[in-house]
Amino acid sequence: MNNTIINSYYDRLPGSYLFSTIAKKIKEYQIHNEKADIIRLGIGDVSSPLIPAVIEAMHKAVNEMSVKETFHGYGPEQGYRFLREAIIRGEYTPRGISMDPDEVFVSDGSKCDVANIQDLFSTHIKIAIPDPVYPVYLDSNVMAGRTGIIQSDGRFSKVTYLASNAENQFQPALPKSPVELIYLCSPNNPTGTVLSRDTLQKFVDYANEKGAIILFDGAYNCYIRDESLPHSIYEIPGARTCAIEFRSFSKTAGFTGIRCAYTIVPLELSKLHSMWLRHQTTKFNGVNYITQRAAEVIYSKEGWKQTKAIINDYMETASMIRNELISCGYTVFGGEHAPYIWWKIPKGQKSFDFFDHLLSTCEVVGTPGSGFGPCGEGYFRLTSFGDREQTKIALKRIREML
Ligand code: PLP
Repeated sequence: MNNTIINSYYDRLPGSYLFSTIAKKIKEYQIHNEKADIIRLGIGDVSSPLIPAVIEAMHKAVNEMSVKETFHGYGPEQGYRFLREAIIRGEYTPRGISMDPDEVFVSDGSKCDVANIQDLFSTHIKIAIPDPVYPVYLDSNVMAGRTGIIQSDGRFSKVTYLASNAENQFQPALPKSPVELIYLCSPNNPTGTVLSRDTLQKFVDYANEKGAIILFDGAYNCYIRDESLPHSIYEIPGARTCAIEFRSFSKTAGFTGIRCAYTIVPLELSKLHSMWLRHQTTKFNGVNYITQRAAEVIYSKEGWKQTKAIINDYMETASMIRNELISCGYTVFGGEHAPYIWWKIPKGQKSFDFFDHLLSTCEVVGTPGSGFGPCGEGYFRLTSFGDREQTKIALKRIREML
């Protein structure tokens, strides 16, 4: 094939996607160790089955699809109104945020939304990305040609990195040089830490003053235990004129295999709102009726109770991991308002070497911090999504490793 016809920005991406690199390492280990009993505390996938309320709603919706009068074909690309209204009622009204259903765009995942949203912006703009963070923000901008090439320190040129580390209590400072697009993730994947109201206010004020846009990823908002912490960027005065928010049912309700999420584009951002509508109506077919009915029921009284019970269960596992590592003498962050535990590994070790070490000594898999950005070097991410008993065994092995 003639290589000049392809998008050469893809060549700037280093190796494969983080999780495929890890999967490859595990596979190799299994080939050489046939009896391996690997416990996975790495990939952020959920393990609890769907709640009974969701299953019931899905069965009901399937039955509707079998009858001419209640059959649903192509749905509205922006999502059925019943779900958009339920999202506002369940997520935003209780936190004092008012919203128009037209501002809610239902989709099949936050991953696609955070990756696709950059289509709306010029390739010449400067972006700021937390470091460390979910890799999709950076990778999608690399693919679009909005970055330079990767440097020897692991950073791409032409990108502003918002360092988030123990020194700044995981509250990144404002960019020193001008940027037009700012990604924020709270609770953060991978550090499990939450951005404070003060930090968010600083970014919102900056964005409004400079005419920048904030892309706020709140995929893990439902894990925030402290009600006084901001759950949504729209709790911050001024956010409606500068921020787009992404939310997902993946981690809220175990929809990683079902696929449903939503993005909020305020009507105040009228140009971006009409562009995103155009984007979705052109490039997206909408989420199927059955899934949207399943998502809607999460906000019923019983659905919310069942959903909360599972979240609480994951958070109990998170506390267990935190406490166990702390009692082993390690420093850990996160795990209090997020299903992620950010483990500071022994000084001098590289996080990918630590991955290999943990795999070969304990047969426990985590995620090397450096895979999420250069500031993640020296850290390791464990998740609380795994089976409780398996996690207990993994922690016992880690203690024995000491
Ligand atoms: N945003 C963050 C911060 C994530 O960690 C993830 C998934 O791990 C996503 C978005 C993707 O969510 P979805 O399953 O809705 O695509």
